[in-house]
Amino acid sequence: MRRSYEDTYRHKGLRKKLVEGIRSKGIKDENVLNAINTVPRHFFLDSAFDDVAYVDKAFPIGEGQTISQPYTVAYQSALLEVKKGEKVLEIGTGSAYQAVILAVLGAMVYTIERQKKLYDENKKFTYLKQFPTIKFFYGDGYEGLKAYAPFDKIIITAAAPEIPPKLLEQLKVGGKMVIPVDIGNVQQMRRITKLEDGIDIEYFDNFSFVPMLQGRNS
Ligand code: SAH
Repeated sequence: MRRSYEDTYRHKGLRKKLVEGIRSKGIKDENVLNAINTVPRHFFLDSAFDDVAYVDKAFPIGEGQTISQPYTVAYQSALLEVKKGEKVLEIGTGSAYQAVILAVLGAMVYTIERQKKLYDENKKFTYLKQFPTIKFFYGDGYEGLKAYAPFDKIIITAAAPEIPPKLLEQLKVGGKMVIPVDIGNVQQMRRITKLEDGIDIEYFDNFSFVPMLQGRNS
């Protein structure tokens, strides 16, 4: 991928407009809006796609990868209610944009990607070196990361058929999981809170994600 690392006034202006658009769609969390305003989304795309980086849309960038729609990233990040220093597990690294937003919000991020090519691509993505609080793993998100559990928060950025049981196990009691769950052809955003003796589920809007697949892919 041919990346550009130049953040011009034009980019900054487009980003500000994007943030205002997301705000007008109902996102109120100022920390999240500020993170979106801080992170140059065009760094995460090939430089040929500079202009679409600040359109509020998901964008396919090969290998079944999409960079999530900024509104969706903001929505999930706001539901996650990240506090500084919290351990957050992300399933579906993809472009690493969501992971960086979480890091800017102060999280210690553990992110898993099942596609080897995408994982390798992020190792070469030099901008990510600025974020030593993000740890990248190549593996199957359904397995989580037992060695690093428990997590304060878990965010799933692919369409899940159900709540993956191992991920629920790896969540702290009192911890929250934000997960888009399949209902027909779309996914309903849900927030799961792990209780001493079960779970509490809150239901939110519908979205469209790429599927969370079993196993990892070389
Ligand atoms: N968070 C990403 C969105 C990526 S799209 C971003 O900000 O750009 C969803 C990603 O989830 C894809 O890259 C896909 O390969 C990955 N994925 C799907 N199933 C997975 C699984 N079981 N474990 C880990 N990653 C998975």
